[in-house]
Amino acid sequence: MAIFYHSTRDVNKKKITASQAILQGLSPDGGLYVPDRIPAIDFPLTALANMSYQEVAFKVLRLFLTDFSENELQECINAAYGKNFDDPAIAPLVFHEGAFYLELFHGPTIAFKDIALQLLPHLMTAAAQKNHSHKKILILTATSGDTGKAAMAGFANVPNTKIIVFYPQAGVSPIQERQMLTQKGTNTYVFGINGNFDRAQTNVKNIFNDQAFKQQLANLNYQLSSANSINIGRLFPQVVYYFYAYGQLLAKRQLTNGQPVNFSVPTGNFGDILAGYYAKKMGLPIKHLICASNKNKVLTDFFQTGIYDKNRPFYVTSSPSMDILVSSNLERLLFYLTDSDPAMTADLMQQLQQHGAYRISPAMQAILAKDFSADYADESATSQEIAHVFETCQAAIDPHTAVASQVARRFAAANINDQPMIIVSTASPFKFPKVVLSAITDSKVDQVPDLTALQQLQQIIGIPYPSTIKQLLENQPQKRHLLEPNQMQAAILKIIA
Ligand SMILES: *Cc1c(COP(=O)(O)O)cnc(C)c1O
Repeated sequence: MAIFYHSTRDVNKKKITASQAILQGLSPDGGLYVPDRIPAIDFPLTALANMSYQEVAFKVLRLFLTDFSENELQECINAAYGKNFDDPAIAPLVFHEGAFYLELFHGPTIAFKDIALQLLPHLMTAAAQKNHSHKKILILTATSGDTGKAAMAGFANVPNTKIIVFYPQAGVSPIQERQMLTQKGTNTYVFGINGNFDRAQTNVKNIFNDQAFKQQLANLNYQLSSANSINIGRLFPQVVYYFYAYGQLLAKRQLTNGQPVNFSVPTGNFGDILAGYYAKKMGLPIKHLICASNKNKVLTDFFQTGIYDKNRPFYVTSSPSMDILVSSNLERLLFYLTDSDPAMTADLMQQLQQHGAYRISPAMQAILAKDFSADYADESATSQEIAHVFETCQAAIDPHTAVASQVARRFAAANINDQPMIIVSTASPFKFPKVVLSAITDSKVDQVPDLTALQQLQQIIGIPYPSTIKQLLENQPQKRHLLEPNQMQAAILKIIA
């Protein structure tokens, strides 16, 4: 049955198709697109045990993206999940001391955003054709580091697309900059901006709102699109690995059919864990979704008190992809908590906009507690967790994974004999060599250059470098291009003219 999409804030619930929602990204009223119902799975759970990642992706995505033909979906999935991942399982599940780690870092940028960003470009070009748009797609992204590289890797050489990434010149690490400057592809462009991330982000947003500029682009046969994490084309590919993980446990005979599991999810923008919520609502037996935060624990406080309050200090931590005070995907969860009430959702978002805070009712809090629990790990607990897992299992985990692992450990201690625990492992340890090296050698590495830390880490943990790291070391970076913020539009026009 067809599924349509509407904005979380639109009282009329005006419907568009999945492909239109993917092309638009954000709704014009500022809300996020949600499906008009959450589909139930139409296959038995036991079947998951024998399915490849690609097969699970097909079975799950076809339930949401109902205006894509089976052929189109299959082609997109085949293009996204193949040799560009360094493990044929795509998302292997490994066991370390009491818990399973679902490794989502085997794609081209060794972090979990690849899972969605390898698929999104193909969904977008298929969506454009379907809507008879003959325009080419232009993706603009402001990045504080990782998303830019993952988006470039996803769109590289995808026909009829171009991607331009802007990063704050002083706001990314040398490794992150080098990753972007060594990206191959005839349609990828990257600029350093003189200013901080907010500056770059605000300017990109302004370009998206500049009607005259958009018309200029249209005359050059381009339409703007966004690859950011509120796009349903990034959300639903993340639902897939929750099902896949369950199938892997069935295949390993670690579960009886229908037995519930827990997931501990390192959370920032709330996209990853929200995908787990959709999986549960579709029929996957998940008991607890554990929302794990770092020292920026605005979500822990929200789940525990019912008050969301971003008026607080912002900390730079060793898990930077979770250093977030406004988790944009939480709006979708609020929509469900309000019993799909757009007026109430819009009101809460309005309070957040005006006061930086809102409070949900005790009744809503009770509904939340049925699906979620939440906790956080500070910097020293995170570092100790990396050391502990290395000592007990000779396995190196990255700081984001360590936050989830530490929170899961505390959960298991407080809930003895609870269900099997799956920790969502979102980045390779090689992505954060200094933090991991410092934790497992219990030494200060502040003065060690990144590349040296990388080599030392590799020698200690004895795993070969992923190909991304090899390329980073071997390929000559392209020349760095710097821009003043007010030169961004001119730079874009120069590329597409
Ligand atoms: C983005 C990211 C997260 C957080 O995921 P959200 O969907 O933003 O909650 C966690 N770990 C890593 C490594 C990430 O890149």
